[in-house]
Order: sequence, then structure tokens, then C-alpha cells
Amino acid sequence: MAIPKFKNEPLTDWSRPANRKKQEEALAKVRSEFGKEYPIVIGGERIITGQKLNSYNPSKSTEVVGVFQKGDAALANKAMEVAVATFEKWKNVPAKKRAGYIFKAAKLMKKKRFELNAVMIYEVGKTWPEADADTAEAIDFVEFYGREMLRYGVDHPVVKNPGEKGKLVYLPLGVGVVIPPWNFALAILTGMTSAAIVTGNAVVLKPSSDSPLTGWKFMEIMEEVGLPAGVLNFVSGPGSAVGDTLVTHPKTRFISFTGSKEVGIHINQVAAKVQPGQIWLKRVVAEMGGKDSIVVDEGVNLDEAAAGVTVSAFGFQGQKCSACSRVIVHEKVYDKFVDILAKKAESITVGDSAQMSNYMGPVINRGSQEKILEYIDKAVSEGGRVVAGGTKASDEGYFVRPTVIADVWPKATIAQEEIFGPVLAVIKARDFDEALQIANNTEYGLTGAVYTKNKKRLEKAEREFFVGNLYLNRKCTGALVGVHPFGGFNMSGTDSKAGGKDYLLLFLQAKSIAEKVKK
Ligand code: NAD
Repeated sequence: MAIPKFKNEPLTDWSRPANRKKQEEALAKVRSEFGKEYPIVIGGERIITGQKLNSYNPSKSTEVVGVFQKGDAALANKAMEVAVATFEKWKNVPAKKRAGYIFKAAKLMKKKRFELNAVMIYEVGKTWPEADADTAEAIDFVEFYGREMLRYGVDHPVVKNPGEKGKLVYLPLGVGVVIPPWNFALAILTGMTSAAIVTGNAVVLKPSSDSPLTGWKFMEIMEEVGLPAGVLNFVSGPGSAVGDTLVTHPKTRFISFTGSKEVGIHINQVAAKVQPGQIWLKRVVAEMGGKDSIVVDEGVNLDEAAAGVTVSAFGFQGQKCSACSRVIVHEKVYDKFVDILAKKAESITVGDSAQMSNYMGPVINRGSQEKILEYIDKAVSEGGRVVAGGTKASDEGYFVRPTVIADVWPKATIAQEEIFGPVLAVIKARDFDEALQIANNTEYGLTGAVYTKNKKRLEKAEREFFVGNLYLNRKCTGALVGVHPFGGFNMSGTDSKAGGKDYLLLFLQAKSIAEKVKK
């Protein structure tokens, strides 16, 4: 059967009572399974360890969403051995058949849409629309990469050489270690893992300790579609013990990481050291943090710009690598813009993400909440003026009110470091040129946006705003698979452009074949 052209998965229409009912039912079902225990899976074998790792609901921090196994170095090594052996068979499975598994996974994800949403609503505090967008993106990734594999998985023509028959084919790399973050708990994990599998690699997946249940749901789906045992191995456990063992293993061929700058740098350094018995240089794809800016010029519709900034800064509590954490405003409209922004932030509802009425849920855990509040204090001590929020929202879950801090110095701590929470710095600029200079003054380069009516200034932003994903006259979050291939510059990572046409190449190596023939 012909595969239809890729199209993005539509988002759920929450104005329809039937959809709201399905989501409520799925929330009840997932809640009824709270506290259940989930294994490590290596080569299809389910393994229970002595030590456990709980996954909590950040909206109600005493609720245990799931109990996971605390893997260790020995289990990480075992998973590597199994993956190495499985790779020898999996690499020879035709590309079309491999793609078939992930197309089936897409179907199952569509069927389980509300359940997957519910898991993320409880496990990482996503609101209904944010969880739904995460699931839709996961579906998009598998649909997109399945099609991409069909494109790569054929003989590719080369320039003709008389007397030779030539071609280029793409081979998998080997065993890959996939280390995703918790924030796009399903989408990023699914994207990185499915890309590695569909290209013919075997995978050891170490889910984030803040979102193992979401990772488990993906594992379950891959088992349900009949993926051969050992192609995907699921090892929950601490980043330090399990992660370091997997990264340093001599048989690890590549590491696909998305997470913070600090851990990304660490993995890159550790992976660079050639281990005894290792016969390649490991390939590291590391997508890391952001300190993303929106520039607001004079002469724009301020309400519209403030709406774009508000969604970008406070959607999923500012815990997106693409989140706007700095808005740089032309001095002529600065005061008015700050007023509008503060009002918008103050009107945001914050509370349990399982309640559809809340626009913002909790931040991921206590450590994160404390760190965010420390950053707010630091901002004030460095001269910032809190014009909205600035405090915790309640004592039960990890809530922080949407916070706007005006008059931030462009080199202040909160203007430079990734906070990963609902804190927005407002910076005043003399003119558009200075605003753009400020926008480029961090070590990151992930997303950015510009609101201006001036065509020349838009062109200048296209040339000079040094980010992997630039948006003009719109918000800086919400990248769509295939539409906005995603990845950043500088310390934002290796610019893998997830959801783009080049992405699968990161999991492949090209082999050039020439055969002598009679002229
Ligand atoms: P994190 O770096 O704390 O953790 C990411 C993963 O690394 C987790 O699975 C963690 O268990 C693992 N890990 C931790 N220490 C390890 C070690 N020593 N060896 C191997 N693995 C280890 O990041 P996080 O808090 O999960 O995610 C938030 C970060 O991710 C933010 O900085 C955000 O900007 C970034 N992010 C970037 C992108 C992007 O595309 N650039 C997308 C999403 C998130």
C-alpha cells in the first residue's frame, strides 16, 4: 500500500465535550494505575532490582505515579552486550520492514492518544493542550522518520564513471545510547529512539528519572508492534551510574542526547576518550539548553507581541528549551509593553495540571522550584524589578507564579543563564540594532523571534540573529516536525535539526560501492 504524504497530526479540539470526556476517562484510568511497578527490559527479559526509583506527580508531590527499577553499571553493561548481539541481525532487516514497525507505532499512539496525554499530565505536570501537543509531536516524528527511512533505504546514484557501476548506500552505525530529557517526555524520547531504530541500529534507552513512565509507555508500544527483542532495551536508573557506563562502553557507537548544557558537555568529554578495545570514534549528538530572546520593535501591535511573548515564556511553565526567557524591547514602547505583559502574566491561572482550567501547571520537581526561586532573588539583587509573580504559588505541588522581571541588565545572571522555569527577563534597548546585539550576547543560540513591521529589520534579523530556529512576527515555541526542523547553535548543541530531512543521517554511515563492468 502506498504511504500517503506526511502531514502533521492535528491537535485535539478541547471545545468538543466528547474529547474532554475521553481525556477525563484516560486520567481516571492512569490514576487507577498509580504506584504500579515497571521493570527494566533487556533483550525482552523483564528485570526487577532491589533498589527502586519513584516517579512523582509534581502537582501533588506525595503521589507516586510509578515505581521503577534503579539500574546499575552491571545492568547497563548487560544491556550493551544484548544490543551488540541483536544489532548483527537487526542491521540486515530491510529498511521497509523496519519502517513498518514505526508506522504501526504511530497507529497505536493515535489510538492511545488520551492515555499518553494523561501520563504526561500526571508525570511531568503538562496541561491538557501541552500534553496533547507532545503526543502529536511524537506521532509526527515516527510518521516522518518512517518515510525518511524509505527515502534513505535505497541505492543512491553517483556520478557515472565509464567501465564502472557505482552506487551509495546508507548503513546503520551500531549500538546507540539514547538519553532524552523529561520535558518533551514522549516526543523527544520517541523521536530520538525511533530514528535510531528505523535506521537499523540497536538501542539502549535510559529514560529521564523524572519521566520514566512516559518512556515506559513508548517501550510498551514498541513491544506491542512486535519489534524484535533486544533492538530496544529499557534501562531506568541514575544518569551518573547508568548513563556514564553506557557512554563509556567501548561498544557504544553513538550517543544521542538531549538535555542540559552541563550534562551534554560531560557526555561529549567522556565519549571522546577512546576505551581499550574501541575501534571507532563515538558520534555524539547533543542537543542542549537555550536562553531564547524575542525582540519587540517600535511600531508593532503591542498586544499581539505581548501575547506571543506570554505563550512563549509561560507555556509548560517555561520548561521548553525554546521558551522565551528574555524579551528585548525598543525603549520607545518599553513602559507600555511592560504594563501589558505584567497584566497578561498576572491573569494566568496556575494549579493542578489535571484540571483543564489551569493554564500553567507545576515545575518538574522540588530542586527545580528552589533553583527558580533563587534565580528570582538573584535577579532582584542585581537590580531587576519584579512586575508580576515572583513567588511560589502553593505549598502542595511545585508551583511557581509566572514571573516578569523588568529593567534587567543585558549581562545580568538571569539574562545569561538558562533558568528553565516561568521567569521572563525584560531588557530595554536603545534601538533595533542594539536589541539584536543583546539577543546575540549569550553562549546559546537555539530559538529567537522578532516582532517588527520594518522589512529591512526583518532581513537584518535573518542575516544576523544567530539562532538555529528564527521566527518572524510570531512566538518562538511550537516547532512542528517537518515544518521547523529543530536544533540550535553554539552551546545549544550540535544542531541536529530534529524533524528535518538531514536528521536520519546522524544515525547512518554512507558506503560507496563501485563494480568494474565491461565497457
Ligand atoms: P539533564 O541534562 O538534567 O538530563 C537529561 C538526561 O541526561 C536525563 O535522562 C538524565 O538522566 C541524563 N543524565 C544525567 N547525568 C548523566 C550522565 N552523567 N551521563 C549520562 N546521562 C546523564 O536535562 P533535563 O533536566 O532532563 O532537561 C532539561 C534540559 O534539556 C534543558 O537544559 C533544556 O533546554 C534541554 N532541552 C534541549 C532541547 C533541544 O532540542 N536543544 C530539547 C529539550 C530539552
